[in-house]
Amino acid sequence: MRCIFCKSDCVVKNGKRKRKVATKQSYLCTNCKKQFVEPDDFERMWHKPMIITRAVHQHIDGLSLSKVQNHLWQHGGI
Ligand SMILES: [Zn+2]
Repeated sequence: MRCIFCKSDCVVKNGKRKRKVATKQSYLCTNCKKQFVEPDDFERMWHKPMIITRAVHQHIDGLSLSKVQNHLWQHGGI
């Protein structure tokens, strides 16, 4: 694990940070004294869970599964 600011590996664990979607490990850099949470891929692909959640809600709201699939295909490319 390296500091995302100064790239030093003088990084210590600094408790957990609760985010909307997950609890992230928080780190403190002892070199530049900055704090950060572990980076992951979730931010980059945030829209995929969103689309799936929306599809599930549409299905619950009474749309047939084929309509939801069609909607997903048209709008999400899935
Ligand atoms: Zn640093």
